[in-house]
Amino acid sequence: MKVIDNLKTIQLNIDNASQRANRNSEEIKVIAVTKYVSTERAQEALQAGIVHLGENRDEGLLKKWEVIGDKPVWHFIGTLQTRKVKNIIDKVDYIHSLDRLSLAKEINKRATKQINCFVQVNVSGEDSKQGVEPEQLNDFIAELSQFSNIRISGLMTMAPFTSDESVLRSCFRKLKDLQTMIQKLELEYAPCEELSMGMSNDYEIAIEEGATMIRIGTALVGNEEKEV
Ligand SMILES: *Cc1c(COP(=O)(O)O)cnc(C)c1O
Repeated sequence: MKVIDNLKTIQLNIDNASQRANRNSEEIKVIAVTKYVSTERAQEALQAGIVHLGENRDEGLLKKWEVIGDKPVWHFIGTLQTRKVKNIIDKVDYIHSLDRLSLAKEINKRATKQINCFVQVNVSGEDSKQGVEPEQLNDFIAELSQFSNIRISGLMTMAPFTSDESVLRSCFRKLKDLQTMIQKLELEYAPCEELSMGMSNDYEIAIEEGATMIRIGTALVGNEEKEV
């Protein structure tokens, strides 16, 4: 499938989900997650009108960045090892996986400008998931005030791997509630205006529950690793 055809379907679904939730679909940004596809496929996505690209490993990001450059808005969406921060810090516009102080410290040290970060929250409570526990979020964000190069743009979560709509919905709703809680603090370094949630299988529910950035790989650009 061409990316542009997939994008048309996804855009229609975004419009419908927004309408159901009385939201303006223009406030929802699609991040094309290109981790399973080639640089050419990522370029095809850009030609189709995609502005945001997401990668979850430093190698993948750097390889594509070499060719594509800084024209797209680049998102780092995966678990980030502290020692890899220096490789990507000047290449990305958003980091979606801030989940510990040691990582914040390294980002702050290596950054040459303020970096937009999402605090990843383990809403579902699964052991396998990265992220700050919801009960710890307030304290974690308070600690981040010491890092002048870190701006908290929002919260991010990965929903559990399930097709149970009520489980997904309650996960997204909890992240929205946490966002509201942080926004009420009116912290200058943590405006928390974005919610990064929703992937190929659950983005419509995520939009109904307040997502502003959805991270879509398989449904948009496909998965070349599965096709071979
Ligand atoms: C791979 C990945 C996605 C996209 O997953 P799809 O199911 O292919 O849409 C989104 N977010 C993160 C953090 C990922 O690692």
